[in-house]
Amino acid sequence: MISIRIEKLTKRFGAITALHDLDLTIEPGELFFLLGPSGCGKTTLLRSLAGFYIPEAGHIYFGDEDVTKLEPHKRNTGMMFQSYALWPHMTVAENVAFGLEERKVSKPEIKRRVGEALESVRMSPYADRKPNQMSGGQQQRVALARALVIRPRCLLLDEPLSNLDAKLRLEMRTEIRRVCKEFKLTTVYVTHDQKEALSISDRMAILESGHILQVGTPREVYKRPRKKTVANFIGETDFIPGKLAGLNGNMATVETAIGRFDGVLGDESRTPVIGQEVTLSIRPECWELSRDRNVERNSVRGKIGAFVYLGEVAQYELIVRDTTLKVFERNPRFVDGATRGEIFAAVEPEDVVVLLD
Ligand code: ATP
Repeated sequence: MISIRIEKLTKRFGAITALHDLDLTIEPGELFFLLGPSGCGKTTLLRSLAGFYIPEAGHIYFGDEDVTKLEPHKRNTGMMFQSYALWPHMTVAENVAFGLEERKVSKPEIKRRVGEALESVRMSPYADRKPNQMSGGQQQRVALARALVIRPRCLLLDEPLSNLDAKLRLEMRTEIRRVCKEFKLTTVYVTHDQKEALSISDRMAILESGHILQVGTPREVYKRPRKKTVANFIGETDFIPGKLAGLNGNMATVETAIGRFDGVLGDESRTPVIGQEVTLSIRPECWELSRDRNVERNSVRGKIGAFVYLGEVAQYELIVRDTTLKVFERNPRFVDGATRGEIFAAVEPEDVVVLLD
């Protein structure tokens, strides 16, 4: 198992700086996700790790080895991209064996390792098939076996599941995690799909315009976004502008147009001043609805506007004065009389994130 250390990495394409002075350490055996809007630099970072791009500045270390200028084929990384890129004229076994033949591994050793790799992705029965005789999910398993068979130092995955349908994506994402953990592989995974990242990552980095905005576990990033862009990118949220009225450690009191709220600072490394303009981020599932005002603190009174019933959840628009909030109710009880009368919604302080920018 190796760590991947990125120090002050800068990559430019002409006038565009795709990565700005990035610092990041991925721990040995970690399944690490790169997330962010289109064009933020995810693929550029992954391709720099693979050796396809040489950065203008900074260093990349695999363990203690500086690989910044090492050619791609000498880095010994396993790669898997959204197109499976299997050779159509070769069988599954031949496709998986290809990387070993290039490395001049002996025939019996190739046979043994191809067998093991196919076994690990549960594709042994398909060894003699051609790629066009298999489903997309099966082809992706073969692509994974091909990445694993060379015993890579780390695994680099770029949108590996984006060609699959929803059901297969679900199945394959747990499969990818299982394989990474079984092989104790440090893995960097690029995706647009935040559910994929939230469900299987150990940690993730959110990028924007070539900068890392936040690094953390799925829970840390979802529950304690440090910036509006992070809160907005992961999951749904409402932003409510306000002014800081009190501060006690990382707990803040904020005055807004829909009342006073207690919440927690998203970025504890910065101390705001009383009177400063801040923004609350409150996720729709954090509100608790009731017909009566059960609590005073962090509670609003409003009327339900539009709503959508989705079975396990109902999504409401709660109109509080001039503000419209999104509120999700699990096991919906309010839908029947949704638009009748006033309704109260309350939120725990730990679910109110106070953001400075
Ligand atoms: P997406 O999610 O759309 O794949 P991304 O986050 O992977 O996007 P990158 O492909 O890394 O983003 O691109 C980062 C920036 O660098 C973008 O502004 C992009 O236009 C630019 N860029 C990427 N590759 C090249 C290239 N080969 N030549 C010039 N500009 C490039």
